[in-house]
Amino acid sequence: MSNLQNVLHLRPIRSMNYARFLTAVSAARRPSPIRILTELQQRSPPSLISLAGGAPNPNTFPFLSASIKVSGGEVLVLDEPLMKRALQYSGSYGIPELLSWMKDLQKSLHNPPPASYSPERGQMEMCVTTGSQEGLCKIFEMLVSSGDNVLLDAPTYSGTLAALQPLGCNLINVASDHHGMIPADLGKILGRWDPADAQKPGSSVPRVLYTIPNGGNPTGASMTYERKQEVYELARKYDFLIIEDDPYYFLQFQKVTCSGSHTLTSLIPWAPTFLSMDVDGRVLRMDSFSKILSSGLRIGFVTGPKPLVDRVVLHIQASTMHTSTFTQFLLFLRVIDFYRSQRNTMLSSADKWLKDVAEWHPPMAGMFLWIKLKGIKDTQQLIMKKALEKEVLLVPGGVFNINSSDPCPYVRAAFSLSTPQQIDEAFRRLADLIKEAM
Ligand code: PMP
Repeated sequence: MSNLQNVLHLRPIRSMNYARFLTAVSAARRPSPIRILTELQQRSPPSLISLAGGAPNPNTFPFLSASIKVSGGEVLVLDEPLMKRALQYSGSYGIPELLSWMKDLQKSLHNPPPASYSPERGQMEMCVTTGSQEGLCKIFEMLVSSGDNVLLDAPTYSGTLAALQPLGCNLINVASDHHGMIPADLGKILGRWDPADAQKPGSSVPRVLYTIPNGGNPTGASMTYERKQEVYELARKYDFLIIEDDPYYFLQFQKVTCSGSHTLTSLIPWAPTFLSMDVDGRVLRMDSFSKILSSGLRIGFVTGPKPLVDRVVLHIQASTMHTSTFTQFLLFLRVIDFYRSQRNTMLSSADKWLKDVAEWHPPMAGMFLWIKLKGIKDTQQLIMKKALEKEVLLVPGGVFNINSSDPCPYVRAAFSLSTPQQIDEAFRRLADLIKEAM
C-alpha cells in the first residue's frame, strides 16, 4: 500500500450517499432490457442460441475483413469472425476485451485505494465513451441541475463550458495559477457554507468540482500533488465529487517526484492523480485516446465508483447505445500488438539475464511476468530494501497472497510501461541482486 493511502486510511472513510448527487433526469433513468440482453450475449459462450436481440444478421455485412498497416510497418488483421463482431451491436460499457485491459491499466497506473471500492460504496467501474467529451457531457447531465453551484477553475476547456452552461448552473470560478487550482481560494469560497449543511436536502453547498489536472486547456497548467491532496481534503469536508478530466495525462513532459508517490507504481514518473488518492469513491476520472492515438477514433473512458458509472451507462444505453464496436476493436488490436511486442522484449531480456537464477512461464495475456527467484524463500525484503538500492523496482509476490506475511519466492514484473532498454537494464540489475542474495 502506498504512503499516501496509508495516511488517508488513518482517517475514517466517508460513507457516500450517491443518490444525493443525482439529478432528477439521471435518477429517472431505467435500464434498457434489450441492452441488458446484449451485455449478457456478449459475455456468453458461442454455444448460446439467442432469439432475443434485434441485431442484423452478420452475413449481410458488406465488409468481410480488414488489414490495417500501423506505424512501424506491422499489419493488424481483422479476419471474418472478428469483423462480424466488430460491425455488430455491442454492450454499452464497451467490448469486454478492451474494458478488461483498461481496468488493468487503470489499476497499474493509479492503484486506486481498495477501501474506496468496498461493496457498500460500489467497486471501481469503467465504461468506454465516444471521446471523453461524451463522458463529460453525460456526467454533467447526471450531476448538475439548474441553479446548482459548480466549482471549476477558469479559463477552462470550451467544450466543458458548452456542456455545463445550458444546464443553468452557477459556475463558481476558483482562482488558479501555473500550478492549477489554488486550494486556499477554494477553501475561502467554500467557507461561505457550513460543511454540516452539505447533506441537507436542498442545500446549496457545491456537489461537483471540475478540473483538468494536467496540461490544462487553455492554460497548460498542471496541478501539484500537494494541491491535489488539499483539494481532496476539502472534497471530503464538504462532501463534493471531483471530476478529473485528464486527456493530457500521457503527455506530461516532466518527471515529478513527490514524497507520497506510490511505492508499487513509482515507475510511473508523474504526480499521483485524484483517482489514486480516492479513499471515499468520490472521483470520476476521464481519460481519452484522442491525444495519444487518434481523435477521429473517438475513444475515451470514464473510471469511478460503480453506482455513478452505471448511471452514465444508462444514459449511453438511451443515446449512442455504445461507442463504435469497430473502433473499439481497432484500438484493442493496436494495444494487443504493442503489448505482445513488450512481452516479447521482456522474455528475451529474461532469457539473457535471468536464465540461471529464476524461472517463469511466458504469459499469454496481460501485462505481467511472474518470476520465481531461485534460492530465495521470500522476496519481500529483497525487493523493498535491496532492490531499491540497485534502482530496480518489482512487486514482491507476497502482496498478492491472501496472507501477505506468507513467504513467497515470486516477484511480479510489469512490461506495460518501460522501454526495451529499461526492461533489459532492470533485469540485469535484478540478476545481480539475486546472485548477491543466493
Ligand atoms: N477535455 C479536455 C480538457 C480537452 O481538451 C478535450 C479535447 N480538446 C476533451 C476533453 C475532449 O476530448 P475527446 O476528443 O476525447 O472527446
